Amino acid sequence: MGSKTDSVALYRMRKILSELSTKSGRGTELVSLYIPPKKPLHEVSGALKDEYGTASNIKSDVTRTHVQDALVKIMQRLKLYDKTPENGLAIFCGALPPSPSAPLGSETLQLYEVLPHKPVQTYLYRCDDHFHLEPLLEMIKEEKIIGIISIDNTETGFGIVSGNRIEVVEVITSGVSGKHRAGGQSARRFERLREQEINDYFNRVARHAVKTFLEQYNIKGLILGGPGPTKDYFLKGEYLDYRLQNNILAVLDTSYAGREGVRETIERAESVLQDLRVVEEKELVKKFLGEVSSDKGLVVYGVKEVLDSLNRGNAHTILVSEDVGLIHLKAICKKCGFIREKIINQESFMPEKQKLISEACPSCGSNEIEVIEKDFVEFLVDKVMNLGAKVEVISSKSEEGIMFKSFGGVGALLRYR
Ligand SMILES: [Zn+2]
Repeated sequence: MGSKTDSVALYRMRKILSELSTKSGRGTELVSLYIPPKKPLHEVSGALKDEYGTASNIKSDVTRTHVQDALVKIMQRLKLYDKTPENGLAIFCGALPPSPSAPLGSETLQLYEVLPHKPVQTYLYRCDDHFHLEPLLEMIKEEKIIGIISIDNTETGFGIVSGNRIEVVEVITSGVSGKHRAGGQSARRFERLREQEINDYFNRVARHAVKTFLEQYNIKGLILGGPGPTKDYFLKGEYLDYRLQNNILAVLDTSYAGREGVRETIERAESVLQDLRVVEEKELVKKFLGEVSSDKGLVVYGVKEVLDSLNRGNAHTILVSEDVGLIHLKAICKKCGFIREKIINQESFMPEKQKLISEACPSCGSNEIEVIEKDFVEFLVDKVMNLGAKVEVISSKSEEGIMFKSFGGVGALLRYR
């Protein structure tokens, strides 16, 4: 039951992006650099040297120093790579105040390095009062294409939506007669004709659906919308190709059909579209809940239980809520190397860290203790690395995600008990 989405990569990207988006510089002095996979690093260093020269024209002493310091730091960092990483590299560097209200001069030079999970598309160098995050934001957008059918008695709109793109591909009219028969026509004959027309119309919609959603675009799911019961008749009649019929993500009521209806359906389907990962998560959580409710279920949940299963090596998939809010603390005695580990809530981070630092080493009594903190999700990722297990980060936006979180936000699917 492998999911296609690398949920850990997405988790990391979201985390760093949310952190970077809060940063702002005193002036135009924060450097953003995007390096595509095939760009040789010596070319990048050359370009940065030129930027360093250009920066000498900056009038403000502080801004000039900050920009030039940032450029030097980036060039030094690039020297650590012998070649451009597989997907390229994004670097953000600049003098950042510890808080927005901190006094002038309290800035420190900070560098953030992002190895994206998808290739960087174009080279970009920017110096601004904020970091340029658009190319990375673009990467975490959903790439899957979803099809929309907006249908009623008079017309059908076909649309697609993917990432930031919404397109009404086609609108066809039904040709179905109105509900009122012409004079002289028998009621029964009228009804029969009308049924025939509707049947033809639905078949035509189905053919256009195959052309648009299977041949032109390879959609990953379909949403059906429209006013009144037409869409339900269409669905129940199983006119659609089974590949589409079996792939309907939602059926939604709208006020309009056709072109307007496609847009309306997309608006209403926001929760479905926002996160297609939701479909994968549904499956994962369903599996988890199924195991929980079975007598000899191959599952454990809770921090301690999951860590035990990892230590035994019998977990194959670890589920963890994106906002589980836990931190792993590791206290190492600098003298004898004795290690204490603790998993704590974000809220108790400072006091717990202080406690670990101030307690003498239980093994040798030394007071020289170093404490290393790690995001719990990253801790799990490291932990499963050699076990052939996988970490799946579960969002807390979906119903399933919320349900999963009520089990403590961490669980493991087991190979055996
Ligand atoms: Zn010690």
